[in-house]
Parts: sequence; structure tokens; C-alpha cells
Amino acid sequence: MKGMVNRMKDRFCVFKASAKCSECGGTIILEGPRQDLQCPHCRSNCDAGPGFWKSLLEDALDDYVTLRPGESSSSSLFMGDRQIQLVSGREAPSCDGCKTRLPIEDISEDQTTPYECSCGTSMFVWPAPGWLRSVLPAARQVFGAPPEGSSDSVALTTPPVALKPIWFACPRCSASLEIRVETPRILTCEYCEADLFMPDELWRSLHPVRKRVPWWIRFSPHGAARAGTGTSTSAGFTANPGFGGPKQRRRRRR
Ligand SMILES: [Zn+2]
Ligand SMILES: [Zn+2]
Ligand SMILES: [Zn+2]
Repeated sequence: MKGMVNRMKDRFCVFKASAKCSECGGTIILEGPRQDLQCPHCRSNCDAGPGFWKSLLEDALDDYVTLRPGESSSSSLFMGDRQIQLVSGREAPSCDGCKTRLPIEDISEDQTTPYECSCGTSMFVWPAPGWLRSVLPAARQVFGAPPEGSSDSVALTTPPVALKPIWFACPRCSASLEIRVETPRILTCEYCEADLFMPDELWRSLHPVRKRVPWWIRFSPHGAARAGTGTSTSAGFTANPGFGGPKQRRRRRR
């Protein structure tokens, strides 16, 4: 099989990550490497460009050699004014439903269709996007994270959030207001123009709290995470100056 030898040496890292929204303080689940990150609580767009992801993922790849298979470590990162909780580990992708290892030797690196497990669970598989490879040349493939630009949530099998509008009575003028998933938490009554804050119960029914779910990145066997270090075979790529803020970390081995 072509590429078999190299594939055996591919490095697989598992990630679970969340960030604190710098606008509202809410928790944002980082469901995978995507730049179109939005806070589900206040709908503000997060600055999650290539530099952010490079900063987040390169340390994990550097740590790969220090971890035994199956081992992971968790850290708190401070990037600028943003706090990130990250768990990263040395682990090959497994099915979210039955926890069976994916037959990665049967999954080509350019596959874009979801992997269908025999247990009935589907899992996203897609090639690492160009912007990620330009800052992390070793990144090859993403498992378990919704592809960029898709509005899907992580598990394809997760029931979709109710898309039907909900009616909410304005506490001031009693007019019925139509509430949708995309309605901001602070809304203005279209009749009396009062500024209203959506009650917790209603907000939570539209925005259920999600757990951090794992996703994986396949890295090529060679190639350091950072520009200019060690055995990188991709010398000459331009390192993104990246996320400007200071980064500190605390970590704990599990
Ligand atoms: Zn927010
Ligand atoms: Zn399965
Ligand atoms: Zn009103």
C-alpha cells in the first residue's frame, strides 16, 4: 500500500479545548481548527486566525515526543486577554459512539466525506485547511471537528437545535416577540422599543451548554511545529507572526 510506511509513523494528536469569550466571559467550545469562530453567548466574532491556532497547536506537537501513547496533558493558556483550557494528547482518532479506533490506514488524507462507523456514528474527516498548513506545515488531516464554514455541530448524530421560532411576551408591553436561535440575548422590543434581556431558561433552551468534545489532527511523521527548528522538511515557509499577546501556560500531566 502506497505510503504505508510513512503512515505508520504519522503523529496523531487529540485535542479538547475551550476559551473564555473576551467580550462576555462565556465559554466557547473550540470544536476544531476554524477561523470563523463565534461566541454562542454574545455572538461576537473571536479573533481566531492562523496565528491563534499556530500558537495553540504547536506546543502540543512539540510535546508529542514527551508523551507516551494514550497519555495527555492539560494546560491553561493565556493568550493576550484570552484564557484557553486545552487538553492535548498522543492518541489516534476513535469513534465517538463505540470508542473503536478508526481504521486510519483505510482513510485517505484527502477524504472529505464523513467516516461512517459500523456502530452508526458518523465522524467528520477533512484535509487540514491551507491556512493551517501554512503556519503548521506538518498538519495533514482533521478528524471529529466540523469542517470550516459548515454550520454543523460536532457530532453529526447530535439532534439539531430546534429551528422553530419561539414566541416570547415582552414584559413591558406584552407584545409577542419572535425569538430564534440567532436572536441576540439582549433584544429590543419592536413595539415599545424596550431593551430586554432574555431569561436564562429561554436562553439555555436555545443554546444548550455543550461539553468539550475531542478532535484529532494527523501530523506528518517529520516536520517540527515551529519554523526554523530541528528537522523541519518545510523550511522556507513564512511563519505567521501570529498572535501578538504573551502566552503563559500552566500544565499538568495526566
Ligand atoms: Zn461572548
Ligand atoms: Zn463506532
Ligand atoms: Zn414591548
